[in-house]
Amino acid sequence: MRKPVIAGNWKMYKLVAESVATAIALRPLVANANHCEIVIAPPFTSLKAVADRLEGSNVGVAGQDCSTESKHGAHTGEVGADMLKDVGCSHVIVGHSERRQYYFESDAMANQKTLAALENGLSVILCVGETLAQREGRNAESVVRGQVEGGLRGLTSTDLARIIIAYEPVWAIGTGHTASPEQAQEMHAFIRRVLAERYSAELADAVRVLYGGSVKPDNIAGLMTKEDVDGALVGGASLDAETFAQIVNYNA
Ligand code: PEP
Repeated sequence: MRKPVIAGNWKMYKLVAESVATAIALRPLVANANHCEIVIAPPFTSLKAVADRLEGSNVGVAGQDCSTESKHGAHTGEVGADMLKDVGCSHVIVGHSERRQYYFESDAMANQKTLAALENGLSVILCVGETLAQREGRNAESVVRGQVEGGLRGLTSTDLARIIIAYEPVWAIGTGHTASPEQAQEMHAFIRRVLAERYSAELADAVRVLYGGSVKPDNIAGLMTKEDVDGALVGGASLDAETFAQIVNYNA
């Protein structure tokens, strides 16, 4: 039985005070949500303050990205995975489509970041997903296969236990166009087959595969009925504590 994960990505929104206020509001609203793991990813500048406010709660904290470098050094502007761990993060998002699209991140970089995160004791939410053109060109599966295989290159079976995959079709992120539960299920099952080929059916079966792309309180329950949908990575709808709590409490 896979425990669902509901994760919120606050992107480049919220100053420290707003982040803390949202975290404080969220905490009691999800305190009884034992059916899933909950993670929020504030901007770097708010991580420490939010992690402090959520200490002892059932809400984990994630970085939105980390450096490809796992050792300290002359890497201006970079934030190392150990620095995320140091301020209270348990997870890090790697390979988000906005990083791939606007900052030209490759699968090789996602792979280096994943390895750096694992080396420093973080769990990884590895984002994959095709663009509209790739879907229309019938290349969605080959693109997603490349991202999964590329992102996980060199990872052992033990490492896989700390990997969460987020399937986020680029055409669904921030657009209001959610994939249907059937479209999500189809790709999630495909991702699990790719993992089974690379590792084993048993190990693939234990990996949580989240859906991301315009998840809202009114579509989460439908997505969660699907066998291979193990939760959600939520952008816009995670910014408001009550809305995000409704998504977390999709089974209420
Ligand atoms: C995201 O940023 O990962 C995301 C899925 O955004 P949204 O929910 O706003 O589509």
